[in-house]
Amino acid sequence: MSGTYGDSTRSIKAVVSEAIPGQPIAPPPVPAAAYHLPADEDDSLDSYGRSSNPTWRQLESALAQLEGAAAALTFGSGMAAITSVLRTVAEPGRTIIVPADGYYQVRAYANEFLAPRGVTVVEARCSEMCDAAAAAGRDDVVLAETPSNPGLDVVDLHRLAMTCRARGSILVVDNTTATPLGQQPLSLGADLVVASATKALAGHHDVLAGYVAGSHPEVMERLQRERLLSGPVLGSFEAWLVLRSLGSLGLRFERQCQNAAAVALMLRSHPAVKSVRYPGLPDDPAHAVATMQMRRFGGVVAVELADRDAVHALVGRSALLVAATSFGGIHSSVDRRARWGDPVPEGFARLSLGIEDTDDLLSDIEQALDPAGR
Ligand SMILES: *Cc1c(COP(=O)(O)O)cnc(C)c1O
Repeated sequence: MSGTYGDSTRSIKAVVSEAIPGQPIAPPPVPAAAYHLPADEDDSLDSYGRSSNPTWRQLESALAQLEGAAAALTFGSGMAAITSVLRTVAEPGRTIIVPADGYYQVRAYANEFLAPRGVTVVEARCSEMCDAAAAAGRDDVVLAETPSNPGLDVVDLHRLAMTCRARGSILVVDNTTATPLGQQPLSLGADLVVASATKALAGHHDVLAGYVAGSHPEVMERLQRERLLSGPVLGSFEAWLVLRSLGSLGLRFERQCQNAAAVALMLRSHPAVKSVRYPGLPDDPAHAVATMQMRRFGGVVAVELADRDAVHALVGRSALLVAATSFGGIHSSVDRRARWGDPVPEGFARLSLGIEDTDDLLSDIEQALDPAGR
């Protein structure tokens, strides 16, 4: 019974192909723009690369299994997936609530491209999401991101889903930070999951990809139609890279979560650290809600140091942290978010823990932080 398998087993089961003797266990990517056509129309066959691709189908089936969804659709990036959903579900005249403390380019898109087309854009922080959703009406859209990137605050998804259901609004959850091994928003009542597979899912800092997962057939069909007509598709080689990575997701994510928990605990009592957020820390303000809805707390830790220079000094003195503006990769990385315009202090850094040995990371980061806070 697949329901009783652990997450590593589920990740592997999701990517193994059907057992057809003589066929590869891991099928190669199919880079096809056009296919041979039959004389008579036949919608069941692949015909053109923007409408369907065998490698997408394999990845989409794996992602749907991991998210607990009836279907998934892949896109060329997380933003392609998210904006395709927003264009499809946020009708002119409706309100869309977007995270004020989440991924900044999502609210930039909503404000710059949806608001001028008659969609009312409301920004709400994680802590305000449920109240904001209580004021939303039928067919309005609520986009929640939990844990939020970069602040790692958490939204109570069960409560938010109950509110959205009562109001008749559509709940979309960005599951990038948690990954489906950290939480399954659809099982908590979300209508759609959107995510960047660029981060922990693909996990090697070498490919951009995104996806949407959901179980309403009409919504998923409309999204598929939107993807066909607007064309933000994933290349087959990229789909194959993500598929290849998914098999080791359980192993990688487990180590990343373990490293993040250990580093967060160390940072909590380090004299150079002003504050730490990690939903897995027992005294984190989000811990109680996170424990109810998350199976793992993720590989990202938010830390505030004295100032901008303190973050640069940390990177300079560390032998293991690379400065990079992504997260979820096998290499540990650090990003000073104020440089991108996130509403965070100058000394705020998002640490992404990779799959290095925990003790090595602990001693490297501990010595790289200046105890005097400089
Ligand atoms: C990175 C990220 C995105 C955008 O994904 P891309 O693959 O870079 O387009 C969206 N949401 C969150 C939470 C992210 O971290």
